[in-house]
Amino acid sequence: MARRTRVVGIAGRFGPRYGSTLRKRWRDVMERRYANHLCPFCGTQGHVKRISVGIWTCTKCGMVWAGGAYVPRTGLNKHFPKIIIREE
Ligand SMILES: [Zn+2]
Repeated sequence: MARRTRVVGIAGRFGPRYGSTLRKRWRDVMERRYANHLCPFCGTQGHVKRISVGIWTCTKCGMVWAGGAYVPRTGLNKHFPKIIIREE
């Protein structure tokens, strides 16, 4: 990256806008979103993709499930892992 890395990491694209607390929070969310998530069904890492907000799929086993908006597993659906939207 041509830009100097800042404390806020990838949120540096916002420049000085929105305040540092918001940018850091946004960075935390985005880093979790793009991280290699573990598929809760087949246990493979790195094949979990977000289709849209709250909808996640695993390219390995084809499962589609409802998760968090930015992370595939939330504290809630940890207890309800069978909330599957459709099987392919
Ligand atoms: Zn899977």
